[in-house]
Amino acid sequence: MKKMLIAGNWKMNTNVFEAEKLAQYILGFLKSSDEVSSKVLICPPFTNLYPISKLVDGTSLLLGSQNCHFEQKGAFTGEISIEMLDYCGVSHIIIGHSERRAYFDESDELINKKLLAILDFGKTPILCIGETLDERNSGNTFNVLSKQLNADLEGVSAEAIENIVIAYEPVWAIGTGVSATTEQVVEAHNWIRQFLVEKFGEAAKGVALLYGGSLNEKNANELLAIENVNGGLIGGASLKGESFAEIIKIAQKYV
Ligand code: PEP
Repeated sequence: MKKMLIAGNWKMNTNVFEAEKLAQYILGFLKSSDEVSSKVLICPPFTNLYPISKLVDGTSLLLGSQNCHFEQKGAFTGEISIEMLDYCGVSHIIIGHSERRAYFDESDELINKKLLAILDFGKTPILCIGETLDERNSGNTFNVLSKQLNADLEGVSAEAIENIVIAYEPVWAIGTGVSATTEQVVEAHNWIRQFLVEKFGEAAKGVALLYGGSLNEKNANELLAIENVNGGLIGGASLKGESFAEIIKIAQKYV
């Protein structure tokens, strides 16, 4: 049986009313579905976490955040700690998203500090990695992935590796409407699995590998069927309740 996680990254979208409405829609869909074996996660903006935590309490819908600081408190104006997220019912935290790497200059060293702090706290990091179009076109995809994985996973033990989710998100596929092809996803996910098994041993076979980059209800069938794909990190399509629900339905075929 394949592990499956369908995760929505709402980015900087939804005010509190829109967020509650979207969460209610997903909850309604999950309630009315005969069987949903995948884990389903939504990652709204920080300000919507607490109100949504009240809605999802006691349900199977998981709540995640899009970022965190690695310290638990202190003089870090504008930042949010893992402990604060814990009080909002968060189980997963996205780190290393390409938008944070590109627009906020997040380095692999910083991402590694966040990852270790998240693991220490007992939460699940969703570590995003991926190459730009220039890096792919110059034949450097796997050099980039290996550099990111080595640096971001520095200090992680073989016992801890299964508690990490890795999202392969080719930067050129994010928000463009052009997903990676099946062949490209098969190649990248097989490569990541093998890299992790060589580095961490057999336990790495249990790491959930998500694909992200213009995943939607039209291409989900093909992409979620791939052996080493354990779900998706979904931006645009997760903001439309019907599309997100359809992806959850499709995932059910492959769990
Ligand atoms: C993302 O932001 O992680 C993402 C995959 O976005 P989109 O689905 O819109 O490409």
